[in-house]
Amino acid sequence: MMPKYFSDSDWRANLADFPVPISVENDPLLSKTLSIILEDKRVPNELGVELYRDASLPALASLADSIKMSRFGKNIFFNENLHVNTTNVCVLACRFCAFRRGARSEDAYSLSPEEFISRISPFSDIIDEVHAVGGLHPEWTVDNYVRIYEMSKKKFPHISIKSLTAVEVKHLSTKSGISVTETLRILKNAGLDSLPGGGAEILVDKIRDRICRGKETSSEYLEIHEIAHSLGIPTNCTMLFGTIESIEDRVSHLDKLRIQQDSSSGFQCFVPYPFLKDNTRLPEARLASADEIIRVISLSRIMLDNIPHIKAYRMNIGDHLASIAINSGADDIDGTVGHEEIMHEAGSETRVDYDGKKLARLIVSSGLSPVKRDSTYSSFKNIESEPENLTWSLPIVASD
Ligand code: SF4
Repeated sequence: MMPKYFSDSDWRANLADFPVPISVENDPLLSKTLSIILEDKRVPNELGVELYRDASLPALASLADSIKMSRFGKNIFFNENLHVNTTNVCVLACRFCAFRRGARSEDAYSLSPEEFISRISPFSDIIDEVHAVGGLHPEWTVDNYVRIYEMSKKKFPHISIKSLTAVEVKHLSTKSGISVTETLRILKNAGLDSLPGGGAEILVDKIRDRICRGKETSSEYLEIHEIAHSLGIPTNCTMLFGTIESIEDRVSHLDKLRIQQDSSSGFQCFVPYPFLKDNTRLPEARLASADEIIRVISLSRIMLDNIPHIKAYRMNIGDHLASIAINSGADDIDGTVGHEEIMHEAGSETRVDYDGKKLARLIVSSGLSPVKRDSTYSSFKNIESEPENLTWSLPIVASD
């Protein structure tokens, strides 16, 4: 059943009908922001920076929550998915990455199509999406992924394949000697359904040069997504924050995404996640506090007026903060996951053994309504659930 408020065409009208939260009414910066939004204008970058720096967090989160409510009511979306990493061998060595291995490392691996299938098999009755990303393998070409996707689709036609970051697409295109467009066309024909959006990091090249030298440039990231959109491949987009970037860099990142969305409109969901420092090579990183994490999620909802979904990425922020995030502008929470390496290698301790029932209980315990969705946000089912017996269900924001 299509949840109420799913259509976002009239969310500004819905927002105008909502009572203005007291915290917003009493805050000149937030009142000004609400007026701009209701006038059908876009929050400019300078105001975004001001909001990030100076707005009170409860007021910022309240406005973001009102916008989210005007789009989706109390609905919070999730799906039942599984993460499978294809290979941890990578020719690059991004400084924030604890996942990659050199080809000769003892724990390097590269899955064959059969091994990829065997990872999915135990979950195949309960998931409808496999999220598959990996390193930039020195020898793999587009043919390796064609074999993986074709075998997966043959065995599990009901499972959507969300796979490959933009830099993986670029690498495959180079290794295969064909254009990015041709690479994506071949992969789509083999079964690729969508791109997960990872690898955006911060779309400011001077920062990228320090944290992930050798990766695609900001404009290449956007161009690869634009090409995917033009081929009918929906994508997500992400932001890794809490390394060495400034607030202006974060806001500039959001602005670049909404400008791209204006022209290609294929971003489904924005997934902001904080850097986890353990086991990485970026000692100068300034880790994001809980306050900053909620601030980024709320500001994303306020600035990204043309990207419908904002995700609370449990793998990085944990269930406790995810519960707060879905009351502060996020409408989507990361799925059942099943297995996760990239964030856990970097230090995440978030549990990965959730099923749909547990996720639904987490959402209900946060005062909201769970809606199970498919991978591309095209079908929805309301889920009835009892709340979890939790002691942290109130959205109280810790300062650290
Ligand atoms: S982030 Fe991706 S491209 Fe960078 S080193 Fe890790 S696996 Fe390789």
